[in-house]
Amino acid sequence: MSDASASQPAKRVVVAAPRGYCAGVDRAVVTVQRALAVYGAPVYVRKQIVHNRHVVETLEQEGAVFVDELSEMPSGSLVIFSAHGVSPAVRAEAVERGLRTIDATCPLVTKVHHEARRFAKQGVPIVLIGHAGHEEVEGTTGEAPDDITLVQTPDDVDELDIDPGAPLAWLTQTTLSVDETRETVERLHERFPRLIDPPSDDICYATQNRQGAVKQIAGHSDLVIVVGSRNSSNSVRLVEVALENGARRAERVDNAGEIDPAWLEDVTTIGITSGASVPERLVDGVLERLAELGYPRADEERLVEESLSFALPPELRACRAGGPGRRTRSPLAPRAVGPVADAPGAEDRPAAPSEPAVTGA
Ligand code: SF4
Repeated sequence: MSDASASQPAKRVVVAAPRGYCAGVDRAVVTVQRALAVYGAPVYVRKQIVHNRHVVETLEQEGAVFVDELSEMPSGSLVIFSAHGVSPAVRAEAVERGLRTIDATCPLVTKVHHEARRFAKQGVPIVLIGHAGHEEVEGTTGEAPDDITLVQTPDDVDELDIDPGAPLAWLTQTTLSVDETRETVERLHERFPRLIDPPSDDICYATQNRQGAVKQIAGHSDLVIVVGSRNSSNSVRLVEVALENGARRAERVDNAGEIDPAWLEDVTTIGITSGASVPERLVDGVLERLAELGYPRADEERLVEESLSFALPPELRACRAGGPGRRTRSPLAPRAVGPVADAPGAEDRPAAPSEPAVTGA
């Protein structure tokens, strides 16, 4: 080995944790798998059950049929509502069309729906911070369409046509940037002195933990690779958070095949993370590809442990233990990689009251 190569820092990969599947995604995927086992194919799913191409394609192979509209399925069909939630109008349409339904809405999204209904019932207008067109925003807005105004950026606050002296409540999509949302809320508080905060954060524990974990690795990563699909809001936010927190470059990939070797020029340390709807096997594939490209060493940096899980929808809970309906972790679910170190200051949030947490899932 030459003196020059001996003095070069070793190429390495740091893998952020927590990453990948959250409790709501795991529940949604297992819901589809269990419904297929109990009721048989086809099981229809309205929209993508979670925003990940690989997960959707895998479930399609198992017999799930993904549709955009309820009109695309015959009366009497079984349809599952996705983790992002649906508006009351969609539920009503399902009844009108004679469909059987199972609701895989994440309980943390359901919590935001409850808050929207409560404020609307009290006659308090609501500002919803989120992204136009996202399914979760459409579902939440549908709970109180006449009372909710969407705000997408801090600057949108200046454009709001709402009486500054009147009470006003704010809610958010669950997968936003923590930092940008804080700025928007500060602007709301400045403009609306009677602004009412939600009882607890709407940005969910998984989004917060994944953003905290990527911040931790971004500062010492020349390149951060986020595994996640283009339409995954929380994955796209991870790219932004990495760039805002010191990563020289950040790229999102659906899988290892999308890694461009040109990105690796002059790169010593690569940070890796994945969105909340990404199975760990895709991260494994990225690590294998990076090993081929000269980055054989991977170490995990963990911000916090997560142990939250949610009970399945009631229709699927009563199956006999050991039968096809037994609660099992999805085979698409993550497995632990590398050493684990707890960090103080963050913890899982409890399940919504209507959905008791299940441990040891
Ligand atoms: S990202 Fe958060 S809100 Fe969305 S499914 Fe996961 S836990 Fe639920």
